[in-house]
Amino acid sequence: MRSQSRRIVKISKLKEKLKKSDLHGLALDIDDTLSFTALYWVENLTKKFGNPDNLTASEIINKYKILQRYPHFKNAQAQAWMKKARSTSRVQEFLPLIENSNHIVNKINKIVPIVCYLTIRPERAIEGTRKWLEKHNFPKAPIITRPRYVHYSKGSLWKVKVLKYLFPYVSGIVDDSYSLIANMPNDYKGTVFLYYYHQDMAKKPNHIYCKDWKDVLLKVKERFT
Ligand SMILES: [Mg+2]
Repeated sequence: MRSQSRRIVKISKLKEKLKKSDLHGLALDIDDTLSFTALYWVENLTKKFGNPDNLTASEIINKYKILQRYPHFKNAQAQAWMKKARSTSRVQEFLPLIENSNHIVNKINKIVPIVCYLTIRPERAIEGTRKWLEKHNFPKAPIITRPRYVHYSKGSLWKVKVLKYLFPYVSGIVDDSYSLIANMPNDYKGTVFLYYYHQDMAKKPNHIYCKDWKDVLLKVKERFT
């Protein structure tokens, strides 16, 4: 897989490095797994485009799987706002944490190392992402962002490909994404800790549903110790 700049993690290099050091660990998704991105988005989208059903971010995701499908945010302007929010590095710095994800992730890091952050945010959002992770004292690890040649709509497919490529050095991921699970092939041997949403998607034996971050910690302990 190619990379455009030195700041961008080369996935093949990461694999080599992990292999060399015989390091096996977990990947973490960021949006709505570590950061409550949907909360920030819904607050802003409500101000601009209204929210007549008065649904919270979690209620919208539970009902529609992703914010983009909420009828009140389905218009072109709202979609453009989301596209900009997703791609602007500075926006990432203002996102709230989801629960106490930072504290729990540091506990998990002592059980099984966090070896990368794997996000479908675009490359140009990497600096804001890095600052946000540092601000909240998340463990230091490379950030893998979606390359320019992969369209957002194909982000989950790309993520699946990366996870398969990096296995067994990346032995699983904590992720909230409905579409990651939907696109995950049955032959993926890693463990998917499915955070918070979409309990109904945790059907495969290596997909473990976690109702909150405390539960993620518990399930990681069960799986890795
Ligand atoms: Mg996510």
